[in-house]
Amino acid sequence: MATLLNVRNKVLKGGKHYLTSDYKTRNESRGTHNGMDLIGPNGVDDIVAIEKGTVTYTGYDASGGYWISIATNGIEHRYFHLQKNSIKVKKGENVTKGEVIARMGATGNATGNNLHFAIYKNGYVDPKPYLMNENPFNTTEEDAYTTFVRELQVSIGANVDGIAGPETLSKTPTISTSTGWNHKAVRPLQIYLQALGYNLGSKGVDGKFGKDMKACIKQYQKDIGLAPKYQDGVVTSKMYTWKHLLKLN
Ligand SMILES: [Zn+2]
Repeated sequence: MATLLNVRNKVLKGGKHYLTSDYKTRNESRGTHNGMDLIGPNGVDDIVAIEKGTVTYTGYDASGGYWISIATNGIEHRYFHLQKNSIKVKKGENVTKGEVIARMGATGNATGNNLHFAIYKNGYVDPKPYLMNENPFNTTEEDAYTTFVRELQVSIGANVDGIAGPETLSKTPTISTSTGWNHKAVRPLQIYLQALGYNLGSKGVDGKFGKDMKACIKQYQKDIGLAPKYQDGVVTSKMYTWKHLLKLN
């Protein structure tokens, strides 16, 4: 039996969401049901992005069918069983909240037309709070900043308190395409830049500092007003890039 959900953040364009199978309510060949199955009142509906973010995957597999993953502050929102040839977004593209990204379908291991909606955050979690709560992706700049400082502190072995100071700054590594390109600090840096609206390029948040990240940092350095000769795409404390990122300038 389908239950009408009172959602605050929609994933079906029509706005009415009927739950046909809840998170963790049944077992599948690949494990416990790791998302929620949703349909609209008239069956097939357009699928919209629940939150703004960057597309990290579009493709097909036998169980999920055609599916899309979008990252917002390191949280992936995933849309499965999409209609063939209906995907309107590409990997690396930024999407806005409510933007139509595909059409509901029954591809992959689906019993009929439905959206299997899932949230991946170091593993699959219950998607319901994301549909029901206000600002579930923590997308305010302030929240993103605090998360960034905390995650950065973890990655550089500084005291973890979410407050940036001289101790945090002193432990920041030099990061460029040749030095520290795979340092643990790259991932929180990418998530933070993404939250600030920077385009990380086609690889998205991958923990690696490549050419796209260099271009992204150059843009950031330009935006914060560094002199042209310091717009070098290298993240160091000396040239004030870390200082600006940590709001210590
Ligand atoms: Zn499902």
